[in-house]
Amino acid sequence: MIQYVVAPPAISAVPIKGSSQMFPVRRIFCVGRNYAEHAIEMGSDPTREPPFYFAKPADALVINDADMPYPSMSRSLHHEMELVVAIGVGGSDISVADALRHVWGYCSGLDMTRRDLQNEAKKTGRPWDMGKGFDHSAPMGALVPAAGIDPSKGRIELRVNGKVVQTSDLSKLIWSVPEVISNLSHLVRLEPGDLIMTGTPEGVAAVVKGDVLEGFVEGVGTVKTKIV
Ligand code: MN
Repeated sequence: MIQYVVAPPAISAVPIKGSSQMFPVRRIFCVGRNYAEHAIEMGSDPTREPPFYFAKPADALVINDADMPYPSMSRSLHHEMELVVAIGVGGSDISVADALRHVWGYCSGLDMTRRDLQNEAKKTGRPWDMGKGFDHSAPMGALVPAAGIDPSKGRIELRVNGKVVQTSDLSKLIWSVPEVISNLSHLVRLEPGDLIMTGTPEGVAAVVKGDVLEGFVEGVGTVKTKIV
């Protein structure tokens, strides 16, 4: 038996709706600028450029509607409401036609962003990691199994303190869920436990301590957190 010199990390996991079982998380990949209206609001060209990716650590998860601490070193914490895909069957070079067979399920998630640090990184050509991959940066709701869910359409919405701030439809994804899975699997081998945050629609904005964020994706479920 291997003896570790420090305690090995705990396994991050997402709850499964209506079950006591958990989905173990290996990696969290995120797609950038995947809705045209959001690309425009971020000052980018919404034409169909190849998708690009960044990542969050698996232990950035916030689950069970827990509070999210306002992060350090930022004065501009933004919400990004997203559909999250959970990979159940690994593979590389997956075809678009086969892609959905690799999905275990879906959940609603928030790609919380230290926008000031991300903007500084963009300006200086540096990595986005500290703008995107910080502690508690990935609140997620319970997963639901993929059977019966069509990720090509469905309302996606976020309310802050009861007011709708982001609303769109999955049909507006520039790169669809099967296309994202296929493309990403050509860059890295996907494995069971990988999560993919598929991008946010327009309406991103800053939140402050005390704000309550409640998002949902039609047919998938909700995500909720309070900024503390
Ligand atoms: Mn995002």
